Amino acid sequence: MAYTISDECISCGACTAECPTESISEGAQHYEINPDTCIDCGVCADVCPTGAISAE
Ligand code: SF4
Ligand code: SF4
Repeated sequence: MAYTISDECISCGACTAECPTESISEGAQHYEINPDTCIDCGVCADVCPTGAISAE
């Protein structure tokens, strides 16, 4: 179970700088989280201005 980024992402990049495992990168439509390296810490969800990141 990893955190995921929805279409509400505005590609601001705030989450990328906060991720301790560098699991977030810019994808084709919006930013994306690598489920293989995400440790479910939740830091990215706390800094996202649009609430686009959730644990699902
Ligand atoms: Fe990175 Fe933590 Fe967000 Fe996973 S939950 S993408 S490890 S900041
Ligand atoms: Fe997208 Fe939220 Fe990350 Fe900004 S902080 S790039 S809006 S997921």
